[in-house]
Amino acid sequence: MYVYDVILQNGFIVTEKGISKGNIAVKNGKISKITTSEINKLAEIHIDASNLYIIPGLIDSHVHFNEPGRTDWEGFKSGSKSLAAGGVTTFFDMPLNSSPPTINKEAFYEKNDAGKRKSITNFHLWGGLVPENLENLEELLNCGVIGFKAFMSSSGIKDFQACNDVALLKGMEKIAQLKSILAVHAESQSITAYLTEKMKTDNKLSIAAYCHSRPIESEIEAVERILSYALLTKCKTHIVHVTSSKVVSKINKAKQNGVDVSVETCPHYLSLSIKDFEEKGAIAKCAPPLRSEAEIELLWDCLKRGEIDVIGSDHSPSPQSMKVGNIFESWGGISGAQTTLNVLLEEGYWKRNVSLETIVKLTATNPAKRFQLYPEKGTIKVGSDADLTIIDLDKTFVLKKENLFYKHQQSPFINKEFRGQVMYTFISGNLIYQA
Ligand SMILES: [Zn+2]
Repeated sequence: MYVYDVILQNGFIVTEKGISKGNIAVKNGKISKITTSEINKLAEIHIDASNLYIIPGLIDSHVHFNEPGRTDWEGFKSGSKSLAAGGVTTFFDMPLNSSPPTINKEAFYEKNDAGKRKSITNFHLWGGLVPENLENLEELLNCGVIGFKAFMSSSGIKDFQACNDVALLKGMEKIAQLKSILAVHAESQSITAYLTEKMKTDNKLSIAAYCHSRPIESEIEAVERILSYALLTKCKTHIVHVTSSKVVSKINKAKQNGVDVSVETCPHYLSLSIKDFEEKGAIAKCAPPLRSEAEIELLWDCLKRGEIDVIGSDHSPSPQSMKVGNIFESWGGISGAQTTLNVLLEEGYWKRNVSLETIVKLTATNPAKRFQLYPEKGTIKVGSDADLTIIDLDKTFVLKKENLFYKHQQSPFINKEFRGQVMYTFISGNLIYQA
């Protein structure tokens, strides 16, 4: 009989508050001791972490695993395995791209059962807010959704309709009553539809034309509108995949005025530009689209000032066959679930002096707090769940197609060199990934 299940010895322990050297002991899935003094070495798993960094397992609040219904695009099994390899221990699956979409309790149970059977990591499900399901929001919350997601512009999927202004207001009023949270894809339907139509009519079908059809102004218009609705309805709001400092600053002003709003960006908006999109093609297509190199730097400045709350991957894969042809018609979505931490370490920690504490805050502590999983998740404390990721900060590697656990081994980050590698991932003290 071992005293502990896992002992991680002499590692650099990183939380949102700082870094300290020490030993972590795990018992019954929880962190039972953190100490600098010698620990009884009898444990089922004993890891010498002398040159390694131990961080809270990442929480990816934004993935599309497409199961049930479009499991040929990804699925819980391959999706969660990719996350584990990237140091992620909990994910929130979006309500769309799976079929049926998660807009009522029947759909919730169908997806939740699939997830329970197949996911190797913890997960929660987002419920959808669509124009016709106001009556289903309460039952979805009772099922246990982590929050609700709505689109202000077309979602790209016919079975998940965007909300018009009235549907948004009604939904937000209801979600506020339920004391839940609304995540919003904020691009203007009018601006994007008008510009898309115009590009197509003028036969402008290049990648640059696609980017012009979804300008930053379209995000600003939608965000300003949703912020005033949030103020009006007092609905807790979360703006997903923001691409520009101009949008972040609108949200930041609203926060200062008392609006309960948080903001997410994604690794690709912090590391890939329109130039990369033009080079790599549809594999780097997403909505809103990638921006200029200057915007990338301004977004990092926002992140360093603490104006961004959460980094989510927005992993939204599809079969290769949907990534061909006219850029306006090809599937929009970047595969990134496995590489969130790699991008933040390479582009943030190593290249831009972003601290590990900040990376932990954005990928674990903040999402745990915002979505009520803290302090069981999102930090390293006695009593917290032993969801832990161990990294070798110095180890460099070039990402190869065959390293990816996705169902479709594609990513705009293939052939990129990263410094910082995930060595071990634990969930409740169980080793679920080892490099
Ligand atoms: Zn998404």
